[in-house]
Amino acid sequence: MSAIEEFDRSLAPAEREFQARVAAFAAARTTQIASASRAQIWMGDLLRDACRQGLGGIEVPVALGGLGLGFGARIRAAMALAKADFSLAFAFINHHSAALRIALSGSGAAREAWLAGLLGGDLIGCTAMSEGGAGSDFAAIRTTARKVDGGWVLDGEKRWVANVRGCEIALVFAQTDRLAGTAGIACFIVDLRQAGCTRLPEDPVHGLAPAGIGGFALHEYRVRDSDMLYAPGQGFRMAMAGVNKARTHVAAMACGLLSTALHEAVAYASSRMAFGRPVLEQQGLRWNLVDVSLTLENMELLTLRATRLADDEGTAAVVAAAMAKKFAGEQCLAGVAACIQSMGAVGMGEPRGLVSKLVAAKALCMADGTTEMMNERIGASLGARQLQAGVAVSHGRPPVASAGGFRAVRLGKDAKGATTAEVATLDNGELPPGNVVVRIAYSTLNYKDALAITGQSPVVRKFPMVPGIDFAGTVEHSADARYQVGDRVLLNGWGVGETHWGGLAQRACVRADWLVPLPASMSERSAMCIGTAGYTAMLSVMALEARGIAPEAGVILVTGANGGVGSIAIALLSRLGYAVTASTGRLEEAPRLKALGATCVMDRRVLGEPGKPLQKEAWAGAIDCVGSHTLANVLAGIRYGGAVAACGLAQGMELAGSVAPFILRGVALEGVDSVHASFARRTIAWARLARELPGEVVEANTREISLAQALVVAPELLRGQVRGRVVVDVNR
Ligand SMILES: Cc1cc2nc3c(=O)[nH]c(=O)nc-3n(C[C@H](O)[C@H](O)[C@H](O)COP(=O)(O)OP(=O)(O)OC[C@H]3O[C@@H](n4cnc5c(N)ncnc54)[C@H](O)[C@@H]3O)c2cc1C
Repeated sequence: MSAIEEFDRSLAPAEREFQARVAAFAAARTTQIASASRAQIWMGDLLRDACRQGLGGIEVPVALGGLGLGFGARIRAAMALAKADFSLAFAFINHHSAALRIALSGSGAAREAWLAGLLGGDLIGCTAMSEGGAGSDFAAIRTTARKVDGGWVLDGEKRWVANVRGCEIALVFAQTDRLAGTAGIACFIVDLRQAGCTRLPEDPVHGLAPAGIGGFALHEYRVRDSDMLYAPGQGFRMAMAGVNKARTHVAAMACGLLSTALHEAVAYASSRMAFGRPVLEQQGLRWNLVDVSLTLENMELLTLRATRLADDEGTAAVVAAAMAKKFAGEQCLAGVAACIQSMGAVGMGEPRGLVSKLVAAKALCMADGTTEMMNERIGASLGARQLQAGVAVSHGRPPVASAGGFRAVRLGKDAKGATTAEVATLDNGELPPGNVVVRIAYSTLNYKDALAITGQSPVVRKFPMVPGIDFAGTVEHSADARYQVGDRVLLNGWGVGETHWGGLAQRACVRADWLVPLPASMSERSAMCIGTAGYTAMLSVMALEARGIAPEAGVILVTGANGGVGSIAIALLSRLGYAVTASTGRLEEAPRLKALGATCVMDRRVLGEPGKPLQKEAWAGAIDCVGSHTLANVLAGIRYGGAVAACGLAQGMELAGSVAPFILRGVALEGVDSVHASFARRTIAWARLARELPGEVVEANTREISLAQALVVAPELLRGQVRGRVVVDVNR
């Protein structure tokens, strides 16, 4: 049984039936397909026809009007259509991907406006990422999106986009904030028929006009808020998230294309007589075609492996898709050339020739990532995969490229069960599992770290442990395509320093999913001066903004104002134009809090005891680092429609308030979790900290210590003898 037949048996009956319908659709339209191909005109009519036959919306959920099939069905459809014609397959799958993205991520209004048209074929879609100056380097796109009242204004040019010659809808990726880099990339649904959009004169992608490849310019083009498909911070991630599947279906098209070329070549060579025999019986030629058939089988195996892994998020899926695409693209090109060779001059001409397939095979080596970029993806994981291959026979070591050891704070247990802490030299082989190794530059000493080091609270449950809940440094080794050696990164949360070895060390091995790229303008030291406290403050500010609490709404209260989170929250809020009241138990610190931006300082005792369920409406919003009675009183004093971001428990865990503020004043209580916040929220928070937190606030009240000093300072911190933040230079 061939790999394809075996794969088909794993499909659901509805998926097999769908695939048969796609093949029948193409078979019934060979004349139309051939004439569009000869005339080099966009196959838009065939796309609309396919949708009207109910072939659109392959993976779109049934509840949204789609077929609700799996990715395997898309792959087999791509193969079947590419057997008939590459351009038809490419155009159809691009259209489908646009519809699917809107179905899965579009707002209610966007789905309402576009989805039925896309599924029914009245509208055809495309995805516009590439630009004249940005192809492989997608992060360099220059199309801009500027926020205006009720929507966005787009300006820029997109190139080499399938279906653009006649389609109606484009998903346009654009930069909302150049300083934010990839975190600024968003995606919008654009109606190409509207004012502000001009299709560019045809792009010279030779021989692929039937796929409708072209470009368009946007000038002062207005998009409604509801047509933002991916918000800033999500655009890049979602583009990359879709790319594994896109690469896999490019590989699938290569399989379909080569299988037809081989079929043609074998048919011709069986009937062409030379030296008294069919040329297929000439060993020299037959073996060439044997090689092509073997290569095709391998292309299919790699493609089907990538298909099975496509819904995974990790490196394995990235590498499998890159391998399938690279191998299938390159081998398709060589295979079609061999097929042409076996047909002699007939292979070069019309109508039986295969030259158009040669062009298509070359295009497959470029679309959705060039062969060189596939090499990069595969190469990024090479060291780790080889090392991991050696793991089984060695000691289960993680993927550390460099040999040797590193210094770290190591926590253990003595015979009586008490926590021990020392600075030790550890071996790379002892690092915990992970797919990125980071050479750490700075960490910090937080309250939680001090609890871990002194053993005063059961923060650590697994020994030996390296504490340190955050760190910043440089990637030393990566088995994940998102990070390359030399990338600057930071990490906070995810249980690092509690359940997984943390930042009070010269080296850490962690999961790529936990890392955040360090904003370009931020040093490793600055990142740690800001630390988890500053990051939590930014998440809290974002929580209030998300609730629509603008500066003109009124005063914002910050409780626990002298702490790390509180101090930075004051600085951020005041810089954003909010009036801030700071609540603190240390009134002697009032001048410092005012210098940070507080307009008013109050005594925390006012809030610290049980109070009335509803109190004077004093604040439009609050950032509460304290919890307990303080949080209950804060809620009772929030104005109608206001919100409180709760991010700490300095006074206590309990919350003994009433529901009155919620049901009588519509007050919202927003929980802020900094440990497991999503990648998008983390990236946005750090990009904004890089931009919005004044340098003097970053550096103020920061003390720098060495790894060994961390052991001494930890108990002082618990005794309340340490003021401000403590940054640890792990290399001294
Ligand atoms: C048939 C076809 C259909 C397409 N459809 C679409 C579409 O629907 N939507 C869309 O947005 N785009 C589309 N594209 C564009 C496609 O995504 C880009 O062509 C591709 O990303 C490469 O970009 P580029 O052409 O600008 O080449 P460049 O990025 O300019 O690269 C030029 C060369 O440099 C190499 N290179 C670049 N960086 C590196 C590196 N770091 N290491 C090694 N080599 C490197 C590349 O591999 C390539 O060989 C399509 C392209 C083709 C050919």
